[in-house]
Amino acid sequence: MLEVNKAHWPVTVLGPGRRIGVWVQGCSIHCHGCVSQDTWPRDPGKRIAVADLIAWCRDVSRGTADGITISGGEPFDQPAALDAFLAGLAAWRREQELDFDILCYSGYPLRRLQKEHARLLARLDAVIPEPYVDRLPPANLWRGSANQTLVPLSARGRERYLPYVDRPAGGDKRMQAAIDGGRVWMIGIPDRGDMARVEALCAERGLTLTEVSWRR
Ligand code: SF4
Repeated sequence: MLEVNKAHWPVTVLGPGRRIGVWVQGCSIHCHGCVSQDTWPRDPGKRIAVADLIAWCRDVSRGTADGITISGGEPFDQPAALDAFLAGLAAWRREQELDFDILCYSGYPLRRLQKEHARLLARLDAVIPEPYVDRLPPANLWRGSANQTLVPLSARGRERYLPYVDRPAGGDKRMQAAIDGGRVWMIGIPDRGDMARVEALCAERGLTLTEVSWRR
């Protein structure tokens, strides 16, 4: 069972192509300035059977996904469930002869992941490790602060991600908005001050944002 905050298809702003996005629930790292503070508490009520999550991935993407992005929350805080999810994705990819890649974010340093979670890294095509550091504005595409790297981990990962390792965020930077049951969430990596600007623009139009994820 994996604790999941939300899942979305298609995601086009967190990795190349049209992707399945899965955000896990629970993060013990608590980076200052994190915009996803709603994902911090663990919540057993948000547990989803891994088989059901994979069935959802199969249903929504119908074999057309270029990749899957796993974020959060902190995926490596649920190592056993993450392992089962990654194994299920790999089996689906192999059985259906698909070619989607698996990219995972983590707030843990790469060295710690290599030491404690080598088995999980071996199941990924690429990882974006290191904590979010508010005082280091983003430098590169798909990353929230300049200390965060993009590390290809497999042959597929190297083929697909090497061109993006040093790619500046620049003009490729975009955000998606998704609406679900009265809740709006922004998908992507905001720049410093972007969420305040969104709030101000909403206020100008008479909309007040409540229970925002970038404040507690
Ligand atoms: S940025 Fe990521 S690792 Fe850091 S607190 Fe937020 S969810 Fe956790």
